[in-house]
Amino acid sequence: MVLLGSTGSIGLNTLEICRRFHLPVEGLVAGNNLELLQEQIDEFQPELVAIADPDRIHEIRHPRIYAGEEGILRLLEESASPRVVNALVGYAGLAPTLKALELGRTLALANKESLVIAGAFLDRSRIFPIDSEHFGLWYLLNGRPFRRLVITASGGAFRDRTPEETRRAAYAEALHHPNWSMGDKITIDSASMVNKLFELLEARWLFGTEAVDAVIERRSIVHALVEFSDGSTTAHLADVDMKLPIAYALECPITEPVLEPVNLLGIGPIVFEEIDTERYPLWQLKEELLAHPRLGVVLNAANEAAMEGFRKGHYDFGTMADRILDAWQHFRDREPKSLGEVMKMDKEVREYVFANEE
Ligand code: NDP
Repeated sequence: MVLLGSTGSIGLNTLEICRRFHLPVEGLVAGNNLELLQEQIDEFQPELVAIADPDRIHEIRHPRIYAGEEGILRLLEESASPRVVNALVGYAGLAPTLKALELGRTLALANKESLVIAGAFLDRSRIFPIDSEHFGLWYLLNGRPFRRLVITASGGAFRDRTPEETRRAAYAEALHHPNWSMGDKITIDSASMVNKLFELLEARWLFGTEAVDAVIERRSIVHALVEFSDGSTTAHLADVDMKLPIAYALECPITEPVLEPVNLLGIGPIVFEEIDTERYPLWQLKEELLAHPRLGVVLNAANEAAMEGFRKGHYDFGTMADRILDAWQHFRDREPKSLGEVMKMDKEVREYVFANEE
């Protein structure tokens, strides 16, 4: 396989699965953590390597190393592996997703932003999601007719704060996820509930239905539920660990447990709660987003741009959400009709959010 984002949270879990199932790695791609990347190169001996910054190529010992977005695309073109794992973060993952699909590869996709931004224009038949909720849904469905798909949210870093305290919170505070250890961006997205909006869209594109919703389950033991047409509901339970979804997305021959089973007597009561829009103001976008899923590009671009200001300390958590809502109001009447329009809108939305900062 080729692994994009090998030094990140999903990348590290993917390499664990590679060790366990003896999967060969043809290409590795990382950003700034070159020390770790070098260790991975020494262990997995990939044919091809790419990093983000061309000025740092000399820091890596490898004969075939490329850099920048062009470098990642070239690595994909020169690779022969049938499978690409895309664990890059944000918009940077879209071009490699498009390239991998264009080259006819199977895509194990952690970079959910690719689907959020351009789901309508991707060949979803070759995408295997790396996301615990969508893995849970797939595990439950088994081709039976269903009424509604439900995914769960932990509630994120501020679930126990008052809405007023949450509004004033700073970047470092939003990085304390109660259950999962993940990269910074998805941790912030979890606190704002943007991650769950993204996942509804992801489910919309992967399962072809708008009948998707989310509830809070604070322990993150139940990842997904399916309400079937016959009136029965089933739930998917698993420990908080991405290795199970990754092993399935890589189509590993799973003959023994990847995780320990959930300790039923140890988990205590499981409670489902509504996601309320006072605490999570962005949740008010849910219905409109599902009705107009091509507007995912607006939500993603506004979120990435506003998160940048929040990260730099220009404003607080509440203002970040206000900026996203404002951009949504501004662009909500313009659904892109092509991939070209998607890319143009991405730029415009970012410019709009940045301009409002001045
Ligand atoms: P991380 O921030 O932990 O990892 C991101 C990876 O991408 C790192 O290897 C980073 O390199 C690399 N990277 C970032 N920018 C570039 C670039 N421009 N060029 C090359 N490499 C780059 O993120 P996560 O692993 O948490 O998340 C990855 C994706 O998976 C996201 O879309 C997220 O939403 C999704 N996801 C994550 C889950 C999780 O449990 N973490 C669960 C479900 C989905 P470096 O660190 O070296 O700079």
